[in-house]
Amino acid sequence: MSEAGAPHPTLAERLASVQAGIADAARASGRQPSEITTIVVTKFHPASLVRALSELGVRDVGENRHQEAQAKAAELAGLPLRWHFVGQLQSKKAKQVRAYADVIHSIDRPALLTGLSGEKVIDCFLQVNLTDNPERGGVAPAALDALVDQTLATPGLRLLGLMAVAPLDEEPRRAFARVRELSESIRGAAPGATALSMGMSQDFADAIAEGATHLRIGTAITGNRPQPE
Ligand SMILES: *Cc1c(COP(=O)(O)O)cnc(C)c1O
Repeated sequence: MSEAGAPHPTLAERLASVQAGIADAARASGRQPSEITTIVVTKFHPASLVRALSELGVRDVGENRHQEAQAKAAELAGLPLRWHFVGQLQSKKAKQVRAYADVIHSIDRPALLTGLSGEKVIDCFLQVNLTDNPERGGVAPAALDALVDQTLATPGLRLLGLMAVAPLDEEPRRAFARVRELSESIRGAAPGATALSMGMSQDFADAIAEGATHLRIGTAITGNRPQPE
């Protein structure tokens, strides 16, 4: 909440301020800001907000619920946007998600791969679970190698790398270092899978320090999310 009388920052101001923070964090780690793709996560927000972001030059947007994502992608089909699906995937919806998503960040089990195979090649990440709770989504690190092999054998999927969400009870920087190490461990099988989708509104600087190439940032840019219906 801003103080009484203080103006609310506009969408353009929040976007500019996050972009400046990303550039600072990149330079502090000896990296180029241009190596980093910022995906603005627009879940629960109306299509009009996505359109406003597009007018401000945003090219990558992220959604985590299939029906909502599908509707927005259809409504905004004329805009130069790349749609990233970052939420938990149901296997019976996988084929439909593939129809509008340019990049899928949340592949976490072999059962999804049949539905995600296809002729058109789309980019994907394998989501790793950094907690001991299977409900959190993501493949357990012990099962990652097998999922990498199965993904590489699936037609129509180009494996970019790994995705993760930092657990609530661990230092984000330590958690992101674990993802980086896992990424190095799959390089033999998947030399091209060098990308790291990690870092959100509260922890993107730590993610950049550990090599994040794709940030998924919601509230710091969009403002608070409306309640989901
Ligand atoms: C909502 C969401 C984000 C963005 O979270 P913020 O804290 O709003 O930046 C990133 N990744 C995933 C998977 C999400 O569901």
